[in-house]
Amino acid sequence: MPIKVLPAGLAARIAAGEVIERPASVVKELVENSLDAGATRISVEVIDGGRESIRVVDNGHGIPANEVPTAFERFATSKIDEKSDLTGIATLGFRGEALPSIASVSRVELTTAGQPAGQGVRAAVEFGGPVRVEPAGVPAGTAFTVRDLFRNTPARLKFLGSAATELARVHQVVATYALMRPDVAFSLAADGQARFSTPGRGDMLETVAGVYGWHVARLMVRVDPPGVSSPGHGEFAVSGLTGAPGLTRGNRAHITLSVNGRWIESRRLAFAVEQAYHGFLAERRFPVAVLRLTVPYGDVDVNVHPAKTEVRFLREQVVFAEVQKAVRTALVESAPVPHVQRPSPAAGSGPIPATSMPDNPLWPGQPDSLGVPTPGSIAAPTPRRSLPVLRVIGQAHDTYILAEGPGGVYLIDQHAAHERVLFEEVRDRLGKPGEGGQRLLAPEPVQLLPQHERVLRDHGALLSEAGFEVEPFGARMALVRAVPRVLPGGSGAEALVRLLDSLADGAGTGVWRERVLATLACHAAVRAGRRMTPAESQELLRRLEATEQPHTCPHGRPTMIYLSVSALERDFSRR
Ligand code: ADP
Ligand code: MG
Repeated sequence: MPIKVLPAGLAARIAAGEVIERPASVVKELVENSLDAGATRISVEVIDGGRESIRVVDNGHGIPANEVPTAFERFATSKIDEKSDLTGIATLGFRGEALPSIASVSRVELTTAGQPAGQGVRAAVEFGGPVRVEPAGVPAGTAFTVRDLFRNTPARLKFLGSAATELARVHQVVATYALMRPDVAFSLAADGQARFSTPGRGDMLETVAGVYGWHVARLMVRVDPPGVSSPGHGEFAVSGLTGAPGLTRGNRAHITLSVNGRWIESRRLAFAVEQAYHGFLAERRFPVAVLRLTVPYGDVDVNVHPAKTEVRFLREQVVFAEVQKAVRTALVESAPVPHVQRPSPAAGSGPIPATSMPDNPLWPGQPDSLGVPTPGSIAAPTPRRSLPVLRVIGQAHDTYILAEGPGGVYLIDQHAAHERVLFEEVRDRLGKPGEGGQRLLAPEPVQLLPQHERVLRDHGALLSEAGFEVEPFGARMALVRAVPRVLPGGSGAEALVRLLDSLADGAGTGVWRERVLATLACHAAVRAGRRMTPAESQELLRRLEATEQPHTCPHGRPTMIYLSVSALERDFSRR
């Protein structure tokens, strides 16, 4: 065949294949348009998994009557223009491809009117044909109905799954957007039956309850934006909710992630979340999590593909490490405190309608009237951070201290626990009179790299506050005259180099002081593999009890693992 430009209709059908693969992709595009239109209520209804029809109704700002035909043209969009900067796009859509793609492979009907309701239009397009528009009195907002998807592309129709499969995908899409936007009330119905709805009042927990039920929401733990414990990465933040360790699922589909307000799918990030549960979850069980990441705009590329929800990160390792740390910290800080014994779960399992919002035992200040199911070996979390008094039983593998408390048995990582203790002790002493450094009998020379010199220049004051006295000593050399008292004898110069390394990789601004303290604490803390006497172990636990955050080391790793007596009784079939 000679080379010819394809007729517009055929070209559109081929292009549509990139954006619209199945009913769930139609739902995704229409819901994104509704969100971009400022809707606060979005309802989705499908029949036969969306193969027969898909209806998305919103209360957004509508499409002006005279612009309706244009909206169905390729690359027609109201969201960007030639002056827009593509790096900071705030809307979900901007390519102008969805409506023409959908309309080329289905029968579309829509009604739309601006706010307040009044004169609007009704429009219809069939399989890429002309757009027919007529004035009509219709409710404010926009309602799209998409029927007979892929009826004109039999090859694609053949690739659709069963109604149940397609419905599951639609459900996943609507649930994801609902979780991402607690400020918008979503509902999903299939074949006339309600599947779920969210209240749209902006509350994350209520939203999780809407999507998954209160039996799940009650077992979620808050993940907070990093404070002092997560230094070094500028505007990077992770927040949301993550399931208590006993709340598990058989697949990864319940880890919902968004970056700067966009839903993303990332196996690697989901894996980072899973890793945060290391030691908490049984094999082949997966957590439930809803996490929102904020990443500096320059760090992320969202402009990958219209239908794809992938993103690329400039500093992947940093993003993964931060996600893992935020989740781990949340899990460990909400770790159970044994003297809280909860009533039997019988009364409070099963979903509870959002209208009778139950007291949530996981949050401070809420009465614990319903009780929670006791999941796995780790009891339900409580927000309490203090430790009970622990009695040392022994040491295992020269690394873990075994101890008992009022409600169960603890395994404490001696290095992590000591790091936490030193971190807080040094922090509290910093800058107090008489606390400076320990002068060395003979100054120690250290070799410097160019980045070390830069850190010394920029953060010299902080280092001297911590107790270092360092003076320049020719090219790429310095003399260490004094070191912080916390460091073990003879390790000052080495600790300084480690500290300079750690400060040099911190690309962001962050909390430098916390970094210095964490590095010092790590350097000074007792290593794994060192035998400790019972008296030393007991002394370490006594100091750990006195800390503010005994459950995690300064890097966010857990200091301890806990087995409640009730879990033991259950595991030994005593009850
Ligand atoms: P894009 O979202 O990339 O701009 P679409 O093809 O999805 O492209 O939509 C084209 C245009 O139609 C949008 O830019 C918007 O102006 C308008 N539009 C589509 N859906 C809605 C809606 N639900 N409410 C208001 N305007 C809408
Ligand atoms: Mg769009």
